[in-house]
Amino acid sequence: MHRNLFKPLIIVGTSLLLAGGSFADLQAREKTIIMDPPKSLPVLEPVPRPDIVFVIDSLRPKLNKNITPIVDFIRDIEFSDMPEEYDIWSDSQINPYKVDLKDMKDTVKLDLSGYVPPITKHVTSDFGFRRWRFHYGIDLKVEKGDSVLCAFDGTVRLTRRDRRGYGYFVLVRHFNGLETLYGHLARITVNPGDTIKAGVPVGLGGNTGRSTGYHLHFELRYLGNPLNPNDLIDFQSCCTKNNILQLNASHFSYKKEIDKIRFWKVRRGDTLGRIAMRTGVSISKLCKLNGIKRSTKLRIGRNLRYT
Ligand SMILES: [Zn+2]
Repeated sequence: MHRNLFKPLIIVGTSLLLAGGSFADLQAREKTIIMDPPKSLPVLEPVPRPDIVFVIDSLRPKLNKNITPIVDFIRDIEFSDMPEEYDIWSDSQINPYKVDLKDMKDTVKLDLSGYVPPITKHVTSDFGFRRWRFHYGIDLKVEKGDSVLCAFDGTVRLTRRDRRGYGYFVLVRHFNGLETLYGHLARITVNPGDTIKAGVPVGLGGNTGRSTGYHLHFELRYLGNPLNPNDLIDFQSCCTKNNILQLNASHFSYKKEIDKIRFWKVRRGDTLGRIAMRTGVSISKLCKLNGIKRSTKLRIGRNLRYT
């Protein structure tokens, strides 16, 4: 139903001006970048599952209520404005683009109308700071063997089976300009190059990699830059907040908070008291920031956060 609504990416304004000039003169660019998948690739259709189909169908009227159908010839024009960084297609790197969007000048409109929730269970850990680390995705509860569904139509860019980090994970590039990552899977059920519809299982929920308990680590990225999934999606109702996302620098302001963080590298003879004196930060604050106790033994070479 209304599958033709899912695709377009529209760029407002004619250029994205970024710090460091990494989007060199998009205005002068004549090349057309079409995000449609190569025609020879098989398109995997969603596997109907009664429980999920029910959820999706109940969401559709709400999602598409105010949207006007967009015809194909407009879509092709819109796609010609896809940033040229998406010329890169890497099946090994999560972020091959190397663009920092924290100072992006324009607003980019992304169509979210085809969204299907990857999993409909509750949030177990949010996007944001986790003491000294930053959590670039959102964690959603899964039961062993739950199907994890692709969030939008797209083409699988990479799959990997790591013992650490994300564990078994899948990354998909979508035709709306977003990329999604699904981590800690027990099994991967797609291959790089597969073109899949929203709702197709990319794998089974698991506990692989750096994970304590069954959950899905779900990331949303634009040109490699993670977005706070809560800015787009209401995880209680499993719906997108709007059909169109007006993406701008404010979505990446969290990076400025990360830039403010300072670390103290523990050297021989360092104690919490000495570090507190050197950094001007109290021992109790150091403990809180790093999730340690006064009695914690400081390993030489460890980084302690002090801002
Ligand atoms: Zn996570």
